[in-house]
Amino acid sequence: MASQENSDVSAKLAALRQKFLVRASADIEALRAYAEQARRGELSAEGLIQCYQQLHRLAGSAGTFGLAELGVAARALEKKLKSQAEELTDADNSHSQTIEVNDGFADGIDALAKLIEVKSENRDQGQTTVSRGDAFEGSHGMQVSVIVMDDGREGLASLGAEMARYGFDCRTVDRHATAAVQEALADTPGAAAILCSDSAVADVMALRNQFMAKGARRRLPVICVGADASFGNKYHVAKLGAYAFFPEPVDVPELAERIESLAIERSAGVQGRVLIVEDDTELAEHYCLVLQSAGIEAQTVSDPLDLMPTLSAFQPDIVLMDVQIGDYSGVTLARLIRFEPRWLSLPIIYLSSEDDPDNQLEALSKGADEFLMKPVSDDYLVRSVRIRCYRARQLSELMNRDSLTGLLKHSLIKQEVEKELARCRRDGHPSSLVMLDLDHFKRINDTWGHRYGDIVIRTLANLLRNRLRETDMIGRYGGEEFLVVLPQCPVPAAAELIQGIGESFAELAFSVGESSFQVTLSAGIAAINDFPNGEDALEAADQALYQRKRGGRNGVTVYSLQ
Ligand code: GH3
Ligand code: MG
Ligand code: MG
Ligand code: MG
Repeated sequence: MASQENSDVSAKLAALRQKFLVRASADIEALRAYAEQARRGELSAEGLIQCYQQLHRLAGSAGTFGLAELGVAARALEKKLKSQAEELTDADNSHSQTIEVNDGFADGIDALAKLIEVKSENRDQGQTTVSRGDAFEGSHGMQVSVIVMDDGREGLASLGAEMARYGFDCRTVDRHATAAVQEALADTPGAAAILCSDSAVADVMALRNQFMAKGARRRLPVICVGADASFGNKYHVAKLGAYAFFPEPVDVPELAERIESLAIERSAGVQGRVLIVEDDTELAEHYCLVLQSAGIEAQTVSDPLDLMPTLSAFQPDIVLMDVQIGDYSGVTLARLIRFEPRWLSLPIIYLSSEDDPDNQLEALSKGADEFLMKPVSDDYLVRSVRIRCYRARQLSELMNRDSLTGLLKHSLIKQEVEKELARCRRDGHPSSLVMLDLDHFKRINDTWGHRYGDIVIRTLANLLRNRLRETDMIGRYGGEEFLVVLPQCPVPAAAELIQGIGESFAELAFSVGESSFQVTLSAGIAAINDFPNGEDALEAADQALYQRKRGGRNGVTVYSLQ
């Protein structure tokens, strides 16, 4: 299916390029007519402004369609006309008067014509399709896998078992069994990291490079564990290419968190929503296709009047803004976007062929965040858009999420309850609401200290993220209280699920030096759709939780309507 998709995209890109060539040829024909006029001394001011604009357009787009030389040549001519064209535009009168242009203009235009002729003949060159990258769907809701390279060393296999309790899928293979290693590396869905002992790093890196070099998948980071936590040993494994080192005995919650964040990073590669504001429709469509084929959602706006409604409907992570959209200035549009408080922190990136630093600075001061210089190669476009979307998302996560756990903050998870209730009404499905609370948590803090208390809270957050579906919503409701919304999940199924998570959690051992402790949790569950509003559903889940606490903690109680 993926290759079908790819060939569709290639065909579309090729068709767009063909359209571009037709249009560019027509533009160049028009430019040649002006060049003739210039030779005869008959070029009008209006004609020169036209030439300037057409050259500007060619300079910005030719490179993207694989005609880099044409783009560079057009840019050079555009620069020669720049000051003259700007003066004439500002003067705003007598555009029909004839004017002088500098020598070499007409010859330069003829040279452009030659460049496009040559390129049209071998039109399949210069096409690139960007691979979709990892088809990794994210950690929350999707199984995150870890490949454990076992070498008979004590601890590694049991570490795998412990990771499994956190909800990771651990695939343990004997590192000397080449076929098994190859299969695991080539085919472990959702793999986020390879785990091995420090003495095996060199071999494991070699195996990984050998079996993962081909294809679009990025190579998995190698995390090693070892007894020797000296600087020398850590330097040694770092030099071999290890991504992280965990001294034994391994701090399992920290390892889990590290793998979790790796999984989130890997999944970030395929997310993102981009709005492209560009009046050159072929160029806009080209960018759109290239981004979409890399797994990024993209939409285009060519008429600035559609800009604000599209922003609201599409809610992009970032905006790519052309500097000139017909008669509208991208700089001014960026400022207009910022009139609305909700878009104050929306990153706006200029797609510009403006390479004059002074002009860039002026644009930045008026509300754009940075520049991508046209022509942008497909690969560069995808990479820079990905990282900017990722950062934009991180920023909004920072604002919406609790810093200790990364879960939704109190007010946001409460909103989710209301939203889910509305969905239940509309679609008629049953959904569950779960209130979770750690048992005797005060004692944990008192006995082991606040720092360990924090680790426990974070560990439960990670466990929930790993075990619940992408569509489930998890929030930190209070200090050691969590709220979970399970859409399309009837209460009995929710009870079973949460019971299982509670059992896994109770089995986790938190080690402090030589000793260790365990923590249990209590949960109250209510059917969201049994209540007239979210507040009442919350109240019911809370009552069920309270009953559980009174009935001996460590388990799940379902709210029953009397
Ligand atoms: P119960 O089983 O009845 O829930 O007993 P409990 O001790 O867990 O309940 P209580 O509500 O009395 O205490 C909750 C404790 O959680 C008190 C507070 O200090 C602690 N706590 C709240 N937020 C945090 C946090 O962010 N970090 C840590 N370490 N402790 C926290
Ligand atoms: Mg434009
Ligand atoms: Mg408690
Ligand atoms: Mg509490």
